[in-house]
Amino acid sequence: MPAAKHDLLAGRPLPAAGPRARLRERLRAWYRAERRDLPWRRTSDPYAIWISEAMLQQTRVEAVVEYYARFLERFPSLRALSEADVEAVLATWSGLGYYRRARALHAAARVIAVEHGGEFPRDHAAALALPGVGRYTAGAVQSIAFDAPRALVDGNVERVFSRLFGLETAAGSRPLQDACWTLAEHLVPRRGGAGEWNQALMELGATVCTPRSPRCGSCPLERVCAARAAGSAERLPAPKERPPTIDVELELALARRGSTVLLERRAATGRMAGMWQLPSVERARPDMRTALFPPDWTGGARLALGPGLFDLRHTITKHRIVARVRRATATHVAAGGPYRWVEVAEIGALAVTGMTKKALARAMPEPD
Ligand code: SF4
Repeated sequence: MPAAKHDLLAGRPLPAAGPRARLRERLRAWYRAERRDLPWRRTSDPYAIWISEAMLQQTRVEAVVEYYARFLERFPSLRALSEADVEAVLATWSGLGYYRRARALHAAARVIAVEHGGEFPRDHAAALALPGVGRYTAGAVQSIAFDAPRALVDGNVERVFSRLFGLETAAGSRPLQDACWTLAEHLVPRRGGAGEWNQALMELGATVCTPRSPRCGSCPLERVCAARAAGSAERLPAPKERPPTIDVELELALARRGSTVLLERRAATGRMAGMWQLPSVERARPDMRTALFPPDWTGGARLALGPGLFDLRHTITKHRIVARVRRATATHVAAGGPYRWVEVAEIGALAVTGMTKKALARAMPEPD
């Protein structure tokens, strides 16, 4: 076997044909018996698989199941997504977070409709050229939908490989990523079964080779696992250095007028661009303002804050937010500005931030 070029694999032979075939066979047999019945596993439609892959990035399976069904009901085909208004796409995505994914899906759907006849491209370079589609997503969609011999590495695969091959380095680091991609390319079946192999690897990482307390005794790869043999499964891969969390304190103003509530549209660029939220402002430690929220809400509205209703906890990437929702009275709202009185019954059609969605659900559980 050719020696791997990367440092982490230098000096180690990659699995030869025999062990590689046995590895595939063991994992495949396990997957067929143990795999979870997830909605996106019941289809070979590249569009539906693509949607699931976009949603699953950085989001738990349990949360995705519900959004996946709703999204496909609203946009049942790539054509439907490409013809939709981005606002409607964001509204349907609202609550899943990482809204760039939704914007990229929409932009890519438009490219696919115009340049690829409405079907997710089979050509790898063409897929990689789409907005928001990287090596992982292209590999996932093409292997699962078309059974193309494409490798993939996500967090689950990285953990499995790190343990299986005893790769002692930090999770998410460049050397580990490179080594895992080399292994993934080497191991992916070339003559059929790539999609199943990729899903089996991810499933093993999600359900058996878990970040904490891996269930090695139930693992089909136990006998060939380097970390199992060395007793190092629990500590591999080494934890990645995380940026420190930033505590943010906010005021959210709940101003109502009849059957409407006052919402504020975020700026057209930056995080959660163009989405709607309750007028929000950071209150504590102005020196530490995060730029996640505007410094005040005077640009088009004048609000008098009333009593606090409740506190809400919400996390946006590294920002840990405590938001105090307060009753408010608007004494002036300028026409044409970022503020708008919105019918409560119509809020569902707007792209509303996850935190505002939470706040409204708690403040007004039933629409007026
Ligand atoms: S034996 Fe344990 S550490 Fe190794 S792949 Fe299986 S679950 Fe992961």
